[in-house]
Amino acid sequence: MHVNFRPTRISIKPGRPPMYPIKKTLAVIRGIIYHGKRVECPCCGKSFSLFLYSPYMTAPCPYCLSFERYRLLCKYLSDETDFGKKEMSVLDIAPTWCFQEFCRKFESLNYTSVDLSSPLADHHMDIRKLRFPDSTFDWVICYHVLEHVDDDRAALQEIRRVMKKGGLAVIQVPIHRKKTVYRFELSSEEAKEILKYPDHRRAYGRDFKDLLLSTGFDVSVVPFVKKFSEQEIKRFGLDKSEDLYICRKVDNSTERETDSP
Ligand SMILES: [Zn+2]
Repeated sequence: MHVNFRPTRISIKPGRPPMYPIKKTLAVIRGIIYHGKRVECPCCGKSFSLFLYSPYMTAPCPYCLSFERYRLLCKYLSDETDFGKKEMSVLDIAPTWCFQEFCRKFESLNYTSVDLSSPLADHHMDIRKLRFPDSTFDWVICYHVLEHVDDDRAALQEIRRVMKKGGLAVIQVPIHRKKTVYRFELSSEEAKEILKYPDHRRAYGRDFKDLLLSTGFDVSVVPFVKKFSEQEIKRFGLDKSEDLYICRKVDNSTERETDSP
């Protein structure tokens, strides 16, 4: 058994999400305080009296601190896909504890995470230069990362490169407009208003799908949340505004196959 201690992190076994004893203890305490049946978190699978209030994060789960978009992701993976239901390898880019808790439930899942510097990540690396062989992963999860990356196309090509043929990725960015706009196109006043965060390189629009297609993915934009009633959306605490961008690697070519003229 390989035990790798960091201040609050224990990696028991390669391929399994790490453990965080302090986080876990605090989560158990919060779970007791907010004990109840009114709301249910699709990430940790637990029920509570309510989701928490935070001025920064919207409505975190009392236990795993998931927020709306991660609860939507976990509900989608559980209800609509074979995620975790058979042997598979998963790459989690910019990991969150709530998604690690979700992955922990699946014994057949081989989990790896990367980030530039997060202590939650197994490996520190730049997603534009992933240090994994071609065709390594069955699933990639990349949530709200690309808006921080200067060359998003290079990052997408790397994600696609490390996916197995037939593999799937959920690649999400914040989308609040029709067309993508880049920081260099904006005055500093406009950038403040449109980009909002100083480290966002661009504000994506609904043409994000075209970027994914041009990388060579087969792309489905899934309005998954529309399946749920208002009551269910409240119960699971889901993000009503986010469609899911599901990308499939259909072949191993390095260039986008184009239709014959
Ligand atoms: Zn939770």
